[in-house]
Amino acid sequence: MDRDRRITREELKAALYEAYRRFKGNTSGKNADYIPYLANVDKDLFGISICLKDGEVLTVGDCNYRFGIESISKVATALLVLKEYGPETIIDMIGADATGMPFNSILAILLENEHPSTPLVNAGAISAVSMVCPVGNSRGKWETMVQNITELCGSEPQLINELYKSESVSNHNNRAIAWLLKGYDRIYDDPEMSLDLYTRQCSLGVTATQLSTMAATIAFGGYNPVTKRRVFPAALSEKITSMIASVGMYEYTGDWMFRTGIPAKSGVGGGIIGVLPGIFGIAAFAPPIDKAGNSVKAQLAIRYIMEELRLHIFNGERAVMVEHQPAPV
Ligand code: GLU
Repeated sequence: MDRDRRITREELKAALYEAYRRFKGNTSGKNADYIPYLANVDKDLFGISICLKDGEVLTVGDCNYRFGIESISKVATALLVLKEYGPETIIDMIGADATGMPFNSILAILLENEHPSTPLVNAGAISAVSMVCPVGNSRGKWETMVQNITELCGSEPQLINELYKSESVSNHNNRAIAWLLKGYDRIYDDPEMSLDLYTRQCSLGVTATQLSTMAATIAFGGYNPVTKRRVFPAALSEKITSMIASVGMYEYTGDWMFRTGIPAKSGVGGGIIGVLPGIFGIAAFAPPIDKAGNSVKAQLAIRYIMEELRLHIFNGERAVMVEHQPAPV
């Protein structure tokens, strides 16, 4: 039996616009308020963007608004160290296991000190930042990190200074994590420098359009369909996508995969990226988040599109994007 299922661009567009229409008025959730800047972002902003293999980017809503990338930056830096050190070293030095606990958990570090976590939660992300080359050189590391995000997104992110300041004066928990990791020999550069660079990468402003391009670059094996440039070796795509699939939606990741079937990573700024290998990269943005830290409207929108087009990655069918549905014979 033919298990290929053809999806036209028109069907995808229709699902995208309908997702926006359905959920635009949803008022559930609340802006993150433990970082003061985020509490004041307009809660009604909402945008959804999908980047396809040929580089076309479909958008609806506020896709040009720059918001804090927050935890989605962890995906970029994880890719960077995967590229610099190779997957086996990353498993040894950071790990790739879901903690099952909140993203900023200290308990998770205490419980798993031999194998702290994944680069997609705060502890592993601070470790990852500490590994970025050139070690010992804050300015050089920052340039490398921004360059990497630029290549993934197809254009430059911009630091939101106010967010950076706001996070820097309120990141006591992350400082505790950085020093605890130091005690376990899981920080590979200066802890304060690593914490500062981590905080800065979380404060980068990006648009939904840029993030869908980043998601598509992962979905298409490291090849950025917008810039037509290779950003990372194809073999790393399955590695980063596995990490995203196992922990990307914080402690709700299992429920998310079960219901929605797309590896996704969210950030407390209200963004979520979804990676559908070989098909598309999607990003949605809306500031109000749920208890775990996931944007309520972005989740609803991505879930709607996935269900509407029956795209769950484990459904046994192979979805294929086509220009037009062939006429029935
Ligand atoms: N900068 C945030 C923090 O470290 C990122 C959290 C997130 O988006 O999950 O608390």
